[in-house]
This record gives sequence, structure tokens and C-alpha cells, in this order.
Amino acid sequence: RPRLLSGIQPTGVPHLGNYLGAVSHWVRLTRQDGADRPWSPPSLFCVVDLHALTACPEPAKLRQLTLETAASLIACGLLDSPGVRLFCQSQVAGHTELQWLLSAICPISKLQHLPNWREKPYNNAAIFTYPLLQTADILLYRATHVPVGEDQLMHVELSRELAARFNTRYNCSMFPLPEPLLPCGAAAVAARVRSLRDPTKKMSKSDPTAASRIGLADSDDEIWTKLRSAVTDSTPGVSYDPEQRPGLANLIDLLAALTDCPPAEVLVRHGPVENKLALKRLLADSLLERLRPIRRRIAELLAPPDGPAEVARLLRQGREAAEAEAAATIAEVRRLTGLPPL
Ligand code: ATP
Ligand code: MG
Repeated sequence: RPRLLSGIQPTGVPHLGNYLGAVSHWVRLTRQDGADRPWSPPSLFCVVDLHALTACPEPAKLRQLTLETAASLIACGLLDSPGVRLFCQSQVAGHTELQWLLSAICPISKLQHLPNWREKPYNNAAIFTYPLLQTADILLYRATHVPVGEDQLMHVELSRELAARFNTRYNCSMFPLPEPLLPCGAAAVAARVRSLRDPTKKMSKSDPTAASRIGLADSDDEIWTKLRSAVTDSTPGVSYDPEQRPGLANLIDLLAALTDCPPAEVLVRHGPVENKLALKRLLADSLLERLRPIRRRIAELLAPPDGPAEVARLLRQGREAAEAEAAATIAEVRRLTGLPPL
């Protein structure tokens, strides 16, 4: 039966790339009203705090961001559909146990080929092995579909390879081969939202330049300041040309995703768009309209007295659902590998 799973790191407040490339896609996929809702409940989403440890965060910061990340996803409406659960990865023990079993069947070369461990400024073993933990996150729930942004395709591919390897090694059909789901339709361009400061890079929580991303909790002023100074090019006028004018195309893509319009038609539909400032104003209007209610809801969820309590309650509920699924997988995997039952 098809099962959805995805995750997000508590490495910063979720940004527009996370929202358009991942979270709003998760909300669309799990929403009640489309004719078919094929997912076998629960659809699982997790705040992957163990992954965030690879960046060596301060403990208080990690605690705060875990809460803020969960609140942001809830504010986006992720838990509005029944059968959707949100939990904290480190609170379900099976993730690390399955990671170890997978590390025992994964050739070292498969990890060496992945780009991240060379590029990141940290030197720890987890930065090399975390793709195995990511595979465990997926396989622990026998997920079949993993909705992610473009940057995660190689990691979902690794999880397919390891699922197949496990099935072959133990002569079983324990794990379905998970498929990535990229955002589609007008939102397809949001599979890779670019940095506002450097359109050759993707927008990232861990980019040291805060002006490179728009956070879901940013104020109206912050959003406008960042958009106004977004890097474009020195060619006069406005045209959609992702190859030659990537900075400008990123802004047009964002407007396309937000207004559900193919990017090639955005300038006509919302036009005439006389110049770059006019485009930035249009984008700011749609963004504020979309983000204001989310920002308000994040603040409500985080504000005491009954604020964080509701987030904690929802995370607890998610954890219980996740633990039940995880326990069944771990029991079966232990049997298959020759480990004694718990
Ligand atoms: P970090 O820099 O800490 O890795 P991040 O911004 O890459 O943070 P993640 O928590 O790693 O965010 O990813 C969460 C989800 O958001 C993943 O599905 C990822 O593919 C997606 N995502 C991240 N950045 C973008 C982006 N710029 N455009 C579209 N999707 C994105
Ligand atoms: Mg990332």
C-alpha cells in the first residue's frame, strides 16, 4: 500500500524553498478534497533533529528550532487532514537501529559518491554517514513515496538501492523501493528555489547570509527588504530566460508557483510588468498574502501559555503513531537478519 513520508531539518526557520518545494506539496498531497487519496495512513512527516546534529548546533538553539520547525509545518496546514502525523525523529529509536543494519550492507563507495560530505564545512563521521540515516528514515516506515525538493533526488536513489540490496541479501520483499515526488504543475519550478543573493545556489537554511532566503516567520519589512535587494542582472527590462537571466527567472518562478500560473505566462498574466522593481512589487504582494496567515499562526503556536503545549501534544501524537509502525518493521528486520527479538 502506498505510504508517504518526508522530513525537514531543524537547522533554521523553514524558508520559501522549503515551503514551495516541500511543505506546500506535502499539504496538497495529503489534502482530503482531491478525488483520490491513495495514501495508507498514517502519512508521516518528521523534524529530523538527528540530521541537524551534523552541523553541531548549540543545544538550546536545537531545542528552539525543533519547536519552531514543527510549529511552522503545523501553521502551513500540514496536520489539517486526518491521517497525517508529525513527529520528532530522535524520539523514535528505530531510525538509528535501522541505520546501523543498513550501514552493514552499504558499500563505502556509495557514500563516497555523494557530494555533501566534501562540501560541508564540518568534519565529523555523521556528515559522511547521514544519507544512511535518511534511508533508514524512509525504510523504517516502508514508505513508497517521498516528496522532496530536487536536491534530495540522489538520497532517495540511495534509499532505493539499499532497499533492493536488503531484499536481495535476505531474500525477502521487506522494503518497497521508494520513489521521489517532486512538486508538479505550476509549482514544478519550485523544486529548486534559488538563493536571493546568488542564483547559482539553492536557497538554504544553512546559508550564512540571512538575506539569501525568506523565512516563513519574516516580517513584511524583512520580506520587502530582501526582495528589493534580490540579485538579478544588469540587462534592462524583464524577460523569462532561466539560462541567461537566472536571478530574474527565480523571481518569476516564485510568482508562478504562488499564483499557480506557468512561468512562461506570468509576465503576460500579471503584466505588463515594466521593470524589475515592478516584478518585485508583484511578487511581494503575493508573498505577503500567502505568508501573513502562516506567520500569524506560527506566532500563536509558539506563544505561551497554551502555545507550545499544543505543538508538544501534536508531536506526541505523531510519535505514538510512528513508534507503532517502526516497532513492526524493526521486529521483522531483526528476525530477517538473525538478531534475537527484543
Ligand atoms: P540545510 O541547508 O540545513 O540543509 P535546507 O534548506 O536544505 O536546509 P532541508 O531541511 O535540508 O532544508 O530540506 C527540507 C526539504 O526542503 C527537502 O525536501 C528539500 O529538498 C527541500 N528544499 C530545501 N531547499 C530547497 C529549495 N531551495 N528549493 C526547493 N526545495 C528545497
Ligand atoms: Mg538541505
